[in-house]
Amino acid sequence: MKVQLINNPTLEFVDSAVGACWGKGGYGADTDKGKERIERVCNKFRHASMLRFASYIFQVELSTSALLEWTRHQHADYAVKSTRYCTKQNPDDITVELSKNDLVNTMLTRHIEEIIELIKANPSLANDDLKLLLPQGFIYEMQVQFNAQSLQNFLALRTAKSAHYHIRDLAYEVFKQLPESHKYLFEDSLYSEELV
Ligand SMILES: Cc1cc2nc3c(=O)[nH]c(=O)nc-3n(C[C@H](O)[C@H](O)[C@H](O)COP(=O)(O)OP(=O)(O)OC[C@H]3O[C@@H](n4cnc5c(N)ncnc54)[C@H](O)[C@@H]3O)c2cc1C
Repeated sequence: MKVQLINNPTLEFVDSAVGACWGKGGYGADTDKGKERIERVCNKFRHASMLRFASYIFQVELSTSALLEWTRHQHADYAVKSTRYCTKQNPDDITVELSKNDLVNTMLTRHIEEIIELIKANPSLANDDLKLLLPQGFIYEMQVQFNAQSLQNFLALRTAKSAHYHIRDLAYEVFKQLPESHKYLFEDSLYSEELV
């Protein structure tokens, strides 16, 4: 599991968008006055569409299980490394995210070793056939982009106790990767025991 923020997000255009609605212009996204207005308008008054003017791009390594869940979030943009093109490229790079159960992990590890052996012994096998052998623990790489509004929704759903532990760990890592000066916008989206 790996998450890395790879762009340099700014709240400058959220600030100017909020200001535009009242004909007041930007206050400056890094100023106390600007931050307070963004928090009040977007979070408190739920004029959250203004948050779409900030975008966050992450490089992520995640299990197939987590990828299936993550890509249900339609308000995000995805570039996922294709198993149709890449499965047999570097067989030794085929890896899995383990479960919390030793028995399952033993089977997962054995299965991956068998796939790697199969590829090495049969170089002419097609990726389109091989990819069907990959388990839900198989690790994908992807680049994903959220705007701040869709990221709030992702964090709210995927840091919840009800989320699978793979995507839950990823969601907390996404939050950790955010610039410190942006975290105030997302803190209320994180799962809180007190809300349940
Ligand atoms: C704990 C958990 C269990 C789940 N279990 C299952 C399951 O068993 N089976 C399954 O199929 N899925 C399951 N899901 C996936 C879930 O149904 C959503 O598809 C996924 O969480 C994406 O959420 P979203 O629609 O809010 O996100 P996004 O697609 O990013 O949408 C963001 C927001 O946009 C709005 N929106 C998006 N599309 C529409 C629309 N068509 N109409 C109106 N408003 C829209 C909604 O307000 C939505 O919250 C589960 C999710 C969670 C968190």
